[in-house]
Amino acid sequence: MAQYTGVAVSPGRVIGTIRSMAPPVKEPAADQVLPDGADASAEAERIPAAAAAVQATLTRLAERASGDGKKILEATAQMAADPSLSQTAQGLVLSGGKTPERAVWEAGDQVASMLESLGGYMAERATDVRDVRARIVAELRGEQAPGIPEVDEPFILTAIDLAPADTATLDPTRVIALVTSDGGPQSHTAILARQLGLPAIVAAKGIHEFSDGTEVFVDSGLGTITDEVTEEHHRLSEAWAELQRNPLTYEGGGGVLADGTRVQLLANIGGAKDAAKAAAANADGVGLFRTEFLFLDREDEPSVEEQTTAYEETFTHFPGKKVVVRTIDAGADKPLPFLTDADEPNPALGVRAYRTSWEKRSVLTNQLDAIAAAARTTDAKPWVMAPMIATVDETEDFVGLCRERGLEPAGIMVETPSAAIIADRHLTECDFASIGTNDLTQYTMAADRQLGSLAHLNSPWQPAVLALVKATCDGARTAGDDPEAFGESANKPVGVCGEAAGDPGLAVVLVGLGVNSLSMTPRSLPAVAKVLSTVTLEQAKDLAAQALAARTSEDAVSAIRAGLPILGELGL
Ligand code: PEP
Ligand code: MG
Repeated sequence: MAQYTGVAVSPGRVIGTIRSMAPPVKEPAADQVLPDGADASAEAERIPAAAAAVQATLTRLAERASGDGKKILEATAQMAADPSLSQTAQGLVLSGGKTPERAVWEAGDQVASMLESLGGYMAERATDVRDVRARIVAELRGEQAPGIPEVDEPFILTAIDLAPADTATLDPTRVIALVTSDGGPQSHTAILARQLGLPAIVAAKGIHEFSDGTEVFVDSGLGTITDEVTEEHHRLSEAWAELQRNPLTYEGGGGVLADGTRVQLLANIGGAKDAAKAAAANADGVGLFRTEFLFLDREDEPSVEEQTTAYEETFTHFPGKKVVVRTIDAGADKPLPFLTDADEPNPALGVRAYRTSWEKRSVLTNQLDAIAAAARTTDAKPWVMAPMIATVDETEDFVGLCRERGLEPAGIMVETPSAAIIADRHLTECDFASIGTNDLTQYTMAADRQLGSLAHLNSPWQPAVLALVKATCDGARTAGDDPEAFGESANKPVGVCGEAAGDPGLAVVLVGLGVNSLSMTPRSLPAVAKVLSTVTLEQAKDLAAQALAARTSEDAVSAIRAGLPILGELGL
């Protein structure tokens, strides 16, 4: 029997067989040539045959896929059908005596470089050519194609981590759970799995010890994978499947605790498309609009007009509702060429987010102008906030810029320990705070949120992180009008918009610590609302006190799971 434990990032309980992600195709040696006496034309003929086989596989996969994944597969299939790669490679076999594998590799490079030199759309196709090249080489070698295994029956995918291109082709009807040995809880892979509702565990060291075809039970609420599948595991996975057939629903109106206390349940979005999905999921509004997502592929600053249109398109999905707009959070994992310096030695601690306004003031003021313009032409109520605030002077500066433009309320993200510890002084200057637990955790624990090897440190369940959430809420109480009151009317509002808010157990803890709005991926709304409905505010405060007093993050998780049996019953 073997059992491995990783970091739970998206809940579920499934039994299935392991299929591992094929490793990247290795480059054939540069001096690889045909052996003496080999039939060069027969060898060259193997290339179009392999390309045709690759094309057939990709077409079959594209037929079954949907959305972006379908488009990517169709484009790659088309590339495999294009004779120029095969013809160039055949030439290298016939005239240069290369092996077909080496010839395809070099021809792929030639075609890709040619596309890159054309720039624009054509340059973007270079990645597809390299992907097709790798697939043809694998076919010629009789190896498994790179990427997600191409088998028809559903399976549990294991991988070191997924590249963005792999995640686009992840088909949740075939991949029933995902377990990676690397990647952190805030990684791209983890965020995507949560959006898809795909049961997922990251940082599960040892997972590659399971060979392909092993039957395992995955509990991605707990973060465990075992090959000893029991009757109880069958019962649990059946209960989870039943929950998928009859999922929890969320009708809107906020989270209501068992004693009637209300907690706003909001959505995290990156633009108008997400806003439409969030509105359809009955979110009470938007708790985090990551505006930098609109401009990640841009070399130059977008104009005020262009930004105004983008904000208007987003705001129209939430007429009369709160939309918390975060000003551009560039840097570290989200570099923007017009704003951040790519050569900083330590970008997560560099001139990022609000700090970019010191040198490039107009990028921030232009953005605020655009938000103010969009607010005037729509019915949404933008709440504007700045990311990565560290000092009270910064808060005062940002709030001043907002007030000059009539943008109220104006707030800050609490992502640095410095902002959390003296939150009372920040909240005397601003109107609200939103805690970004992803960054607050990385800065509290001094652990890069992108590193799988530090995933155990990067948990918002760390008692030190919870203590800073409490410090922020306490600061808001002191800064507000009525130190006794719970709720937005008398307190300065404090929300959480990091991934922690979408974890139902942690949501209870956050509310118990004094947070009055939670913002998450819309998919998490039903489970969070359901679990909140099972506790009173007093019980939530008691659970929060237990988590806060825990020795370790694991102890905090255990205490809350013991106090909230609903989590186990629902497989969350
Ligand atoms: C956070 O840091 O928690 C947050 C919500 O911001 P982002 O994940 O975009 O850095
Ligand atoms: Mg952040």
